[in-house]
Amino acid sequence: MNPSDFPCDVQPHLVPRPGGDMVYKCLGCDATHDINTLLYTCPSCNSVLLIEDRDFDRHRAIPGPLWRKIFDFRKSLNIPALKGVYRFHEFIGPDLPLEAVVWLGEGGTPVVEASPLLQQKVGIRLFFKNDGQNPSASFKDRGMASAFSRINFLLQSGILSNVLAVCASTGDTSASAALYAAYLKPRVTSAVLLPHGKVTPQQLSQPLGNGAAVFEIAGVFDDCMKVVEELSENYNVALLNSKNAWRILGQESYSYEIAQDFSYDTRNLTVVVPIGNAGNITAVMNGFLKFFRIGIINALPKIIGVQSDHASPVFQYYREPDPARRRFAPVTVKPSVAQAAMIGNPVSMPRVIRLADRYDQAAGQRRVFVVEVSEQQIMDWQLTANRHGNIVCTHGGESLAGLVTARQQGLVTDDDMAVLDSTAHMLKFSNFQQMYFENAFPAHYGVTPDPALVNAPQLVEVPGIATPADRETLSGPEMTTFVRKTADEIANRLGLKRTKQ
Ligand SMILES: *Cc1c(COP(=O)(O)O)cnc(C)c1O
Ligand SMILES: [Zn+2]
Repeated sequence: MNPSDFPCDVQPHLVPRPGGDMVYKCLGCDATHDINTLLYTCPSCNSVLLIEDRDFDRHRAIPGPLWRKIFDFRKSLNIPALKGVYRFHEFIGPDLPLEAVVWLGEGGTPVVEASPLLQQKVGIRLFFKNDGQNPSASFKDRGMASAFSRINFLLQSGILSNVLAVCASTGDTSASAALYAAYLKPRVTSAVLLPHGKVTPQQLSQPLGNGAAVFEIAGVFDDCMKVVEELSENYNVALLNSKNAWRILGQESYSYEIAQDFSYDTRNLTVVVPIGNAGNITAVMNGFLKFFRIGIINALPKIIGVQSDHASPVFQYYREPDPARRRFAPVTVKPSVAQAAMIGNPVSMPRVIRLADRYDQAAGQRRVFVVEVSEQQIMDWQLTANRHGNIVCTHGGESLAGLVTARQQGLVTDDDMAVLDSTAHMLKFSNFQQMYFENAFPAHYGVTPDPALVNAPQLVEVPGIATPADRETLSGPEMTTFVRKTADEIANRLGLKRTKQ
């Protein structure tokens, strides 16, 4: 379509122009800091930061219904910079010129309604938003697109001349950072720190394939995070963990897309998110808050954060009902199948505390809850989801287990409609499915396979006939016999009856 084909009221807003008054805002002392620097904590008080647009309320000049039209029509443009998270440019990086946007196919992930049978099992209407269908197969690409577009802008405008991107990772952050860094070669290079033996082989293959320097550290993610913080404080590197507030901005697109996917009617909607370092739940809350404030959505969805009982510091914090008596304490994690969320000291905890409070206040009632699930529940629900035509990894299973738990506790009711964050593709974590099928979980996971969910390949061998394994090719009667006998054997195992004699 040509710009002139779009409705007149949409035309002037179709392609966004840079604007806004962006600053880093400290969550500890409220100080603001220059946005054109690489900054991760407040230089005065060391707290984490969020990015704020001091001119945000200018968006009120456009009424909610017109904003909805703008975003819906933008979907049909063929401008790569507006195909991903920057479809919501005014809410994600309003001061960013579109020439700086790095788009590798992230965003716009499908919301897929669960099969009727699965919905029946769970008891409420539910959808998966498949963020495993992002380029590096996890939601992390949303935040990386934002952080690396920013880095690209700083390079293009001469503020930086080259960048070494570093991150600590439970696997998916490094996969994503390495991908975007490789795209911006030669001025950007990357180095990632992983806990040795605690990422899956698939996740490890990703930064290796993208050419990152990969370092493995003895310990868990929290230890890697400390090393990477030491690096970012003492060397000239760009930190790409979600401590980097640009990551949060990009991940807010998850909420904007849900709003759009449900035609901006967010009443009775419940969004379920697994929590690790707590960057994602921070972004999900902030995204809905921004759209609500401008009148683009009509209600703040309920948000259910989920943690495994092997790594549940956020759940422990909210377990205390009296907000005045809540105290945050890091925990020592135990091995978890939700390995990307195996974090005892979430960097974004101060953001969660601040935003959950703001969220509940804006909603006029409590809307943010955190539940805890077991390793067994995570595995059982992951496998159950996939047996009903989904592609969830252990963390998507954690979301589903969390929804079931929340329903049992009365936090969601039968009128609610749930959107589950399927944060990564199941193939990244297929080793846990394999351990389940082979009953090979080390005891400390506490996972016992339900035989009804176990599956295994069956080797088909018919005794007394030649097979392609004996010789390179079979031919003539030997081939005919092999094909017929093997087909008959499979039909027999499947209980099929012959229709042709
Ligand atoms: C990173 C990650 C999480 C946890 O997200 P946080 O922002 O760290 O809370 C959950 N699931 C997957 C697959 C992840 O990669
Ligand atoms: Zn401060």
